[in-house]
Amino acid sequence: MTDEDVLVVGGGLAGLTAALFTARADLDTRVVSTGEPILRRNAHLENFPGFPAGVNPRLLLDSTREQAERNGVQFTDDRVERVAPLDPEDPPYSEDGDLGPDDEVSGFAVSLDDGDALTATYVVAASWSDPSYLDDLDVSMVQRGSKQFVGVDDLGRTEVDGLYAAGRLAKQYHQAVVAAGHGAQVAITLLEDSDRPFYHDWVVPEGYFTGRDRAVPPGCEEIDESERRRREDESRAAIRESVADPHPDGPTMHPSVADEE
Ligand SMILES: Cc1cc2nc3c(=O)[nH]c(=O)nc-3n(C[C@H](O)[C@H](O)[C@H](O)COP(=O)(O)OP(=O)(O)OC[C@H]3O[C@@H](n4cnc5c(N)ncnc54)[C@H](O)[C@@H]3O)c2cc1C
Repeated sequence: MTDEDVLVVGGGLAGLTAALFTARADLDTRVVSTGEPILRRNAHLENFPGFPAGVNPRLLLDSTREQAERNGVQFTDDRVERVAPLDPEDPPYSEDGDLGPDDEVSGFAVSLDDGDALTATYVVAASWSDPSYLDDLDVSMVQRGSKQFVGVDDLGRTEVDGLYAAGRLAKQYHQAVVAAGHGAQVAITLLEDSDRPFYHDWVVPEGYFTGRDRAVPPGCEEIDESERRRREDESRAAIRESVADPHPDGPTMHPSVADEE
């Protein structure tokens, strides 16, 4: 058994959204990230759907991380140094002894900068702009100028089974909603590639499926009217709290400009 079902490298919008989706599908999910998401450089985000007058991008990032945490995502603040295939000669054994030498183990060994190591069944690389930790894997890279992108298929799969790439690192357009949407798309691809039953991540009113004598499909949830109102009240309180004060942080300047100051 690996430490994590899913390890996401990079806690920008792509990684956070991918993690949100896999955690909501009950996969143990950890985001390992260091350094700032690139969106923290933006002054005011005006093209992310749902915010008529725009939104502070640092608030959006904080809120997305809080949403991921509420849904069970774990976070480690560290740099991923290396991702390598798990060694079948030296697989990790679970502490409770359920797993023996004859059990098949697949996945990845992930080394962190502080010397720790983790294992994961799936890895999602969402670490714009550094893919160097993938050098030991047979992954194609696309070079454009000084930038390197990870080669993926239309749904974010790399050539290595169990390894996916999301967001700008996967050569998606350099826009926030695209990064978030691609993170979701890659996570759903991962779920569909796993044996886990999954239909859609939908919350629907009571009776939407069962009222038609259909079982609630995996990934979906039916809630009654009082639960719907409870969740609405909770979400209004969370939004009110998050916007009560201006965000304390301003934008991060481009490093070359900052260096000149
Ligand atoms: C100045 C500026 C303004 C912008 N304005 C807009 C805008 O108005 N509208 C819009 O739609 N888009 C805008 N964008 C683009 C948008 O911010 C990005 O396309 C999007 O946020 C990319 O998200 P991402 O998750 O792919 O990458 P990132 O947000 O960069 O996330 C990657 C994370 O991975 C971390 N990481 C890297 N290597 C490692 C490693 N080895 N181990 C662990 N962690 C690692 C990074 O430090 C980072 O935190 C702007 C970008 C910039 C630079």
